[in-house]
Amino acid sequence: MSPKVVVLGAGVSGLTTALLLARSGEYDITVIAKHMPGDYDIEYASPWAGANYLPVATPGTPSEAYERATWPELARIAKDLPEAGVHFQETVIYRRAKDVGTATGDWFAELIKEDAWFKDVVPNFRLLSKSELPEGTDGGTSFTSVCFNTALYLPWLTSQCLKHGVIVRRGIVKHVAEAASLHHSGRRADLVVNCTGLGSLKLDGVKDSAVYPARGQIVLVRNDPHVMASVSGTDDSPDEATYIMHRAAGGGCILGGCLQKDNWESQPDPNLAIRIMKRAIELCPQLVPEGKGIEALSIIRHGVGLRPMRKGGMRVEKEVIDGVAVVHNYGHGGYGYQTSYGAAQAAERLVKEALHLTRAKL
Ligand code: FAD
Repeated sequence: MSPKVVVLGAGVSGLTTALLLARSGEYDITVIAKHMPGDYDIEYASPWAGANYLPVATPGTPSEAYERATWPELARIAKDLPEAGVHFQETVIYRRAKDVGTATGDWFAELIKEDAWFKDVVPNFRLLSKSELPEGTDGGTSFTSVCFNTALYLPWLTSQCLKHGVIVRRGIVKHVAEAASLHHSGRRADLVVNCTGLGSLKLDGVKDSAVYPARGQIVLVRNDPHVMASVSGTDDSPDEATYIMHRAAGGGCILGGCLQKDNWESQPDPNLAIRIMKRAIELCPQLVPEGKGIEALSIIRHGVGLRPMRKGGMRVEKEVIDGVAVVHNYGHGGYGYQTSYGAAQAAERLVKEALHLTRAKL
């Protein structure tokens, strides 16, 4: 009989982990989550993400390995599986010397390097020439990235899970070990994979005090700049940023944003929204007809998401909690999509190890 696994959480981390486990054909899997694709909620980060692939990991960390391992799968999806809602996009990254040491500057520190560690991972990495730099910037790079339409990609991940036999159900658990009793077979699961993101701060049995939110505010518009662009900082505030991501398949264009640590506010700040839109047009004037301002942006929605950050980096580990084998895969901060396959592969290896150990003991 296949080992019974419950994956707790249906964000990009839970669904990717469930999919890799299901594809192996070795497990009988239930996904349990409070929020599912289709929901927009402050407790659910995944739908709010841009989302694109802009590596930010420090070399030599597990995050670097996860970002590195994720690119080939994203490139395969963008090339061969249009139904997933992921497309290739050229991206430009601009660097301003004055942003070094700010919250946004630290976030972008690896991304803006001219000899970035990922220069041989992504296609077409090159330095921008002086003539390509907008006023006020000191350098820049460009490469081919991908952009997800999260409104298509998350349902696609769910459908892939269903196709591979995963049972997906709503549920709210108070204690992580409780999830073992929610397997669709009605029998106790052999293992729980914890992919609860920011929920791991309060989930009994985990209560990881290293987890904290980093608030991101976005404006989703219909305008199309035909490129993705980011800058290492703004003159408005050290924790604000300017980035533009054009989503696949009619998903609109994401204008961001900010990285406000320990800020739980779920409602968009109208003043920040105006700054975001103004900065986006300054950076990419082609977003609107010549001479026009933010009144020429066609707004689909304002949004706020909380990135599930974790001091010390994301947690992909195994442990036994109240007699239940648990594999953690949470704390993906602002890089849950671009680390999704690498982290899920690592979680899959731990599931295998944990079940082998549990069975060896029987
Ligand atoms: P979540 O999506 O938050 O999912 C958590 C799941 O756990 C949910 O289903 C929830 O209901 C469930 N859950 C939690 N607690 C419980 C409980 N007690 N019982 C039952 N279910 C529970 N990343 C990128 O890679 N590229 C980007 O360009 C990018 N841009 C971003 C822009 C913004 C504005 C934001 C906010 C984030 C961005 N991110 C980006 C980060 C990315 O969105 C997150 O890292 C990722 O979504 C985290 O996914 P997750 O599955 O770990 O968590």
